[in-house]
Amino acid sequence: MNIGLLYSLEEHEQMATAANPKEFLPDPLSIHFGLSFIASALKKAGHNVRFLLVAPHTDLSEELTRFIGEFNPRMIGLTAVATQYPIISQIAEIVKKIDGSIYTVLGGVHAILQPALIEEDIFLDALCAGEGEVAVVSLADAVEKGVQPANIPNLWIRNSATNTIEKNGNDPFDPDLDAFPFIERKMWDPWIASKPITRQHVLIARGCPFKCTYCANHILAETQEGKQLRFRSPENVIAELRQIRLDYPDVESIYFEVETFGGNKSFATHFCKKLEEYNASLQKPIRYGINVAVTRNISKNSPEILDAMQRANFDFVNIGLESGSEKYRRDVLKRPEYTNEDLIYFSKMARERSINVSLYVLIGLPGETVEDFNQTVDCAKQCVPFACSLSKFFPYPGTRLYDIAKEQNVINAHVDTRLERRISVLNMKQFPAWRINYEYLMFHFRVFQGQIPFFIRATGVLRKLMGMYPLLNSLYMYFAHRTQIGLFLHRKSTRTQFTDAGAPIVPALEFRP
Ligand code: SF4
Repeated sequence: MNIGLLYSLEEHEQMATAANPKEFLPDPLSIHFGLSFIASALKKAGHNVRFLLVAPHTDLSEELTRFIGEFNPRMIGLTAVATQYPIISQIAEIVKKIDGSIYTVLGGVHAILQPALIEEDIFLDALCAGEGEVAVVSLADAVEKGVQPANIPNLWIRNSATNTIEKNGNDPFDPDLDAFPFIERKMWDPWIASKPITRQHVLIARGCPFKCTYCANHILAETQEGKQLRFRSPENVIAELRQIRLDYPDVESIYFEVETFGGNKSFATHFCKKLEEYNASLQKPIRYGINVAVTRNISKNSPEILDAMQRANFDFVNIGLESGSEKYRRDVLKRPEYTNEDLIYFSKMARERSINVSLYVLIGLPGETVEDFNQTVDCAKQCVPFACSLSKFFPYPGTRLYDIAKEQNVINAHVDTRLERRISVLNMKQFPAWRINYEYLMFHFRVFQGQIPFFIRATGVLRKLMGMYPLLNSLYMYFAHRTQIGLFLHRKSTRTQFTDAGAPIVPALEFRP
């Protein structure tokens, strides 16, 4: 059976232009893992699967009419987070108007958090309220046979004959991630702007044991029984790396998607050992990057883990600092417990092993003060990061921090989702929007003082200013990508060199998008 899977990008994420109308994704790291796993499960079950990507400028009726006319899908799968749902709901309606016999199913975080939405959204035939790989295959099976789908765990299913919704319970989390087929990256290639493809990312775990209040993970963890945090075996990951090298011989670096690397020392060192052995078999070793969970034990464990990472050829790590105010981080964000000192120590250990540190930081959090944010700047600066990703807080419905912002009555009446995380949607007396914007623009300028020349930091301020305006941002994305001339925020990741006195030497700067 032909099945379409639709992904709707938001304006700031997409790269498409009139000259290259299909190249929505800047690079392979922008592909959607959830849809990729669903596609692989359906293909393994014998179905023909095609992706369709749309962006805010897409003429939805025209594009869906073309897609349906050419491919004749009998089922269309949709995915959404909260901010994407309005457009996804509109897409389901258009699909039904073009061909009412096409079965529509919604999955993704928003469906899991708000399954009851199917009761109102009459253009959806089913909704996946948990992980979907097994459920969607059973669903496709029933749709192909032309029977009313029923009794499929993880699915809420509309029965139009009885005008009811069958609300099936969720199965426990599947403990064996190795059993899932590898995702088929080639399916995304027509949508990717950056060629040749030299980077890829690989998901090595699902779930997270933490309960950060700005993240929906704590709710997702409770939607299914069993252990939510699951890792793939290193052997299974290496098998996927081999496949990637076959499919993409130009690949030089791979980023591992995981929330908690480093929390389990024996897994981390074993995984690194396997990567080291794999790299030894290659003429040109692959460079790796990963998200590290800084926890209370990191100071104790970091030398051993970082030594193993260095031998495996990791050249960068991402770390969630989020707020440098230890009190705010502990009491409001409920981040894993670590002190700023732990983080600064870890960063120093990493730099000494030529592993670049990149920090994730939030600004404009509910109740955050200017003083809290100054502590964030200080902490980030002391980490001597290679890069920092700064986002303005966006209140995602369903998260605890959304509720806190609601209780504080600081969410603007009109929330513009077009530049989610680049514009502040909170109105707070102690940290007003103008001050958030100012601190947002100046953050990199301040953090990289002494590390990056004045002129380069100033261009970074300009780049962020453009990012706050949709039209300017699109123009920048277009020209930067086409000309390969960008501003300093995207320096090429190279191993940090040190002077004899141990001070980091600023890597050669490359002006690229
Ligand atoms: S560590 Fe990351 S995934 Fe886990 S709860 Fe916190 S923000 Fe969410």
